[in-house]
Amino acid sequence: MNKKVVYIISIVLVLLLTLSGCGGSLFNGDILPEIDEIITDEHTVNVTVSLDDIPEFSGSPYVAINDNQPSFTEADLTTEAFEEYAELDYLGRCGVTFACVGVEIMPTEKRGDIGMVKPTGWVTSKYDFVDGRYLYNRCHLIGYQLTGENANRENLITGTRYMNTEGMLPFENMIADYVKETENHVLYRVTPLFDGENLVASGVQMEAWSVEDDGDGICFNVYCYNVQPGVVIDYATGKNWLDEKTTESEEVNVDKNAELILNTSSKKIHKPDCSGAKNMSENNKQVVNGKDIKYYLQQGYEYCGVCNK
Ligand SMILES: [Zn+2]
Repeated sequence: MNKKVVYIISIVLVLLLTLSGCGGSLFNGDILPEIDEIITDEHTVNVTVSLDDIPEFSGSPYVAINDNQPSFTEADLTTEAFEEYAELDYLGRCGVTFACVGVEIMPTEKRGDIGMVKPTGWVTSKYDFVDGRYLYNRCHLIGYQLTGENANRENLITGTRYMNTEGMLPFENMIADYVKETENHVLYRVTPLFDGENLVASGVQMEAWSVEDDGDGICFNVYCYNVQPGVVIDYATGKNWLDEKTTESEEVNVDKNAELILNTSSKKIHKPDCSGAKNMSENNKQVVNGKDIKYYLQQGYEYCGVCNK
C-alpha cells in the first residue's frame, strides 16, 4: 500500500470516529456550525468558527467544522516553511497560531522544560482518575513535534489532559507522520477560542491542508473541546471541581481502599484475584482504587459477573 493511501485511510478513520462519536448527527445537518468570515488583513480571509455554533460536548473529544474543510485561501498556499504566533492579548491570552510545517523546521532535539510558563487560567489541580493526575497541561497550540517551539508563551494555553491527548494529539501525529514520510508541507492553523473574557479557552480549532498534493494527504477542520470528563471547569478563572454527577452516582459497595482491575477494552471491573483479571492482556489492564470507581461506572464500566456476584 503506498503512503498516500495510508494517510487517506487514517483521515477516513478519524472522520468516522468523529461522526460516530457524536451520534452521526453531522449527517442530519442540524448541528453543523455556521461560519463567520473575518477579514484579518488585505491578503487573507480567515474563516473562523463562533463558539455559539459549536455543539455541546457530548462525549467525543472533537467535532468536524464546515464539512471538515479548512478555510485557507490561495494567498496562504506556500511550500516555504514558516511559523507565526499572535501577540498575547490584553488579558495575556494566546491568539491564532499559523504555520507551514515542513521537515526543515521540525525539532531535532527532545523537548525542554516548559514549567516556567504560566498560561492564563493556570491552576495546579490533581484528580486520581485523570491520566497523569494533573487536570491541566501546558498545552502547545502548534505541537512541539511540528515546529520545535518550546517555552513560547504565545503558543501555550491551559488545556485539559483530555483535550491534549484525546483531542489534539491524534491530529498532530497525523501531520508529523505525513510530513516526515513525504517531506511535503502542511498549512496548519490552531486557534484557541475564548468565551468573553474567560482566561481558559473553551476549545481550539485546528485546520490543516497538505500543499504539494492539494489536500490529498492531510485535510481537516476540527474543534477540540477543552473539557475533562468528570470535572467541572470555571472557564473564567480555571478553578475546577469534581462533577457532582460523578459523586452522586449509584451507591457502590466497594471498599474505598480496594485495588480493582479495569479491562479498558471490555469495560469490565474485576477484583485482582479474578481469572478475568489474571488472563487480561497487559495492554488493556488498568489498576484503580476503590474510591474512584464511581467515576469509571459513570464512564460506562460494569462489574464483572464472575468476581462481583
Ligand atoms: Zn472478574
